[in-house]
Amino acid sequence: MDKGNTQTWNAIVVGSGMGGMTSAAALSKMGHKVLLLEQYKTLGGLTHSFSREGFSWDVGIHYLGCVAPDDRERGMIDWLTHTPMEFEPMGAVYDNLHLKDAAPITLSRPFEAQERDLKDHFPNETDAIEAWIAALREGRDTMYTIASTRAMPDFVGQMIEWWNHKAIDKWCKRTMQEVAESITQNPDLVAAFTAQWGIMAGAPTRQVLACMLWFTALFCTAAHGIRWGAARRLQTI
Ligand SMILES: Cc1cc2nc3c(=O)[nH]c(=O)nc-3n(C[C@H](O)[C@H](O)[C@H](O)COP(=O)(O)OP(=O)(O)OC[C@H]3O[C@@H](n4cnc5c(N)ncnc54)[C@H](O)[C@@H]3O)c2cc1C
Repeated sequence: MDKGNTQTWNAIVVGSGMGGMTSAAALSKMGHKVLLLEQYKTLGGLTHSFSREGFSWDVGIHYLGCVAPDDRERGMIDWLTHTPMEFEPMGAVYDNLHLKDAAPITLSRPFEAQERDLKDHFPNETDAIEAWIAALREGRDTMYTIASTRAMPDFVGQMIEWWNHKAIDKWCKRTMQEVAESITQNPDLVAAFTAQWGIMAGAPTRQVLACMLWFTALFCTAAHGIRWGAARRLQTI
């Protein structure tokens, strides 16, 4: 395409969010001339930062999975960035739940540790807690299967989804509340199971379990926080 009759581009990427930015950086790394277009005055889409009354906020992307030094995805990020991004492991405890006046419940990782946390707090609910942790693991595996189909030809992806349709119905078409209440009738335990709904900004009665599974799987496996703020992240891509 001509730009003022002087400039030609091999690719034009519309939108400077992480999707567009990554595509543009990868194409550029591979030797293509890329034009990245953004409608807004600031680059970064959901990851840009803003200031109010002297305070600054980063909007999106605080944690990432699969960025431990040996992870394949980490290699891709290092390849995309001219200065390697710095990550910080999230630590053993990733959240504290405050339910009514009871002592806070720590949420630890990995899954085995989280199971112990919940059993310490609800010693009479061991079966329900084991069933919940098993649900999180099974649901996570289903989510990973679905995600992998997005990178496949349509026909192959559809076949894999058809083959897994029972698991998809079970974990991705029921709300968090439905799944929790199918496991226990204890309202406090249901509240503990679904307490992290705020991360996804949808009430447990309206949000499918699958939404929560992305985060639980991320937090319970190898999540890392990004040491840098949004502006520095964008500069390095
Ligand atoms: C509060 C918050 C916290 C989050 N935390 C995490 C986290 O911890 N970990 C994680 O992995 N993810 C997190 N996310 C999600 C993550 O930030 C987003 O999934 C990701 O940034 C989306 O990138 P994107 O490129 O798909 O879209 P966007 O960031 O929405 O970018 C799209 C861009 O395209 C531009 N655009 C659209 N149409 C046009 C047009 N016609 N012409 C020009 N420009 C156009 C838009 O202005 C925008 O800049 C969080 C999101 C939010 C909101």
